[in-house]
Amino acid sequence: MSNKPLHQQSLTELSRSLQDGAISSTELTQHYLDRIKQLNGELNCFITVCEEQSLQQANAADRAIAAGNIKPLTGIPLAHKDLFCTEGVKTSCGSRMLDNWIAPYESTMTGNLKAAGTVMLGKLNMDEFAMGGSNENSYYGPVRNPWNREVIPGGSSGGSAAAMAAGLAAATTGSDTGGSIRQPASMCGITGLKPTYGRISRWGMVAFASSLDQAGPMTRTVEDAALMLNVMAGFDPKDSTSMDRAVPDYSATLNEPLKGLRIGLPKEYFAEGLDSRVEQTVRNAIAEYEKMGATVKEISLPHTHHSIAAYYVIAPAEASTNLSRFDGVRFGYRCEEPKNLEDLYQRSRGESFGSEVKNRIMIGTYALSAGYYDAYYTKAQKIRRLIRDDFLRAFEEVDVIMGPTAPTPAFPIGAKANDPVAMYLGDIFTISTNLAGLPGMSIPAGMVDGLPVGLQIIAPHFEEARLLNVGHQFQQTTDWHLRTPVDLRG
Ligand code: GLN
Repeated sequence: MSNKPLHQQSLTELSRSLQDGAISSTELTQHYLDRIKQLNGELNCFITVCEEQSLQQANAADRAIAAGNIKPLTGIPLAHKDLFCTEGVKTSCGSRMLDNWIAPYESTMTGNLKAAGTVMLGKLNMDEFAMGGSNENSYYGPVRNPWNREVIPGGSSGGSAAAMAAGLAAATTGSDTGGSIRQPASMCGITGLKPTYGRISRWGMVAFASSLDQAGPMTRTVEDAALMLNVMAGFDPKDSTSMDRAVPDYSATLNEPLKGLRIGLPKEYFAEGLDSRVEQTVRNAIAEYEKMGATVKEISLPHTHHSIAAYYVIAPAEASTNLSRFDGVRFGYRCEEPKNLEDLYQRSRGESFGSEVKNRIMIGTYALSAGYYDAYYTKAQKIRRLIRDDFLRAFEEVDVIMGPTAPTPAFPIGAKANDPVAMYLGDIFTISTNLAGLPGMSIPAGMVDGLPVGLQIIAPHFEEARLLNVGHQFQQTTDWHLRTPVDLRG
């Protein structure tokens, strides 16, 4: 058994200890519950903690292990972003609208993890309906970055990233519509993988922008991300956009040699707006790959600068449609004493959605309205196609694309709260991947001013195995992924 504290061990280490009986799932689950009790008041990662239920699940896992019925994740305590429906447990989406909503069914992805024997510790804080990049848009208040409590953890999966960095779960899940797994992973110093659109079922994941949303694992190591993806991925007849493609064993190809790997560096990702210390960190990481025998080449993704504009038409348009279901009638918040139906709709939505959600509903409704649809929505879709074609052309010459995940390290809470454009620009390197449907991953690559910085790796559609192989090899020769905040080691 490893001599590191339990909360600093990887899934791989923990599952070994569980399987050889060095520790029980009940002990491990209790360890995390104790840490959550001790640290959550300050960090605000969890919206809901499932103390009783998690101990019951741990007990069931211990019985399964005793009976020799062991799967790779049996007994592992995890936590989910609060937009995955979890049967019988509140699923708030970080919104007052769903503050009273107990999900009556389980999402396919969380159901797969449940069936694999994992234990659910609780549900994690997030920007309301996943709209945001700093976790400041949550009805439940901001999440604090474990590396420095005055700065943001990134978003929208901020609770998931911070919980990992603080050792409050062995692994977490997130969702990424424009960067929400990779950007907080970068800012909290963890591994975050957004798979290809369609790789993991979206059924039971509360929809933000359906053509962009994708779930993914947030873990300490790349090896752990492979273990999680093995279970999370797969065809689901309940999601018409999930792909009917075999799921390879992602753990099996982590150690392929990288000699001859062709890395592309998009010149548009090393341009104005990129913090020079972040750039240096990323260049140092790429130099590591050259030592492993990879070759590096400058490439161009010429439509990158249109990606934010296209995203902020398409995502709000889809959001305005998706969020119309929250009407105060069927589920969620309902205003007091409505005067009539119109008043019920207006006040239920007006009183329970936060301002960023309202902004996006208005932008999206406008962009979809008669007379503006072609000018905005159709045009944005055309740009989306050009962005995808840029990537497909680049992948004729290179195997993976690398660059920064985010232009800056995490910034102080409140610093960009009144400047939406500055906030939106924080996703400049992640958003095109979603528009193109490609898989992308952020891995810890260095530190700037005591804050973590991530390296982003992008691969062709359905090449998650390549991404994981490339990321894992970096973690074999560097130890950035093993760093933890000094005061949280104990
Ligand atoms: N920050 C982006 C936004 O606010 C992306 C969010 C996401 O990926 N869910 O929309």
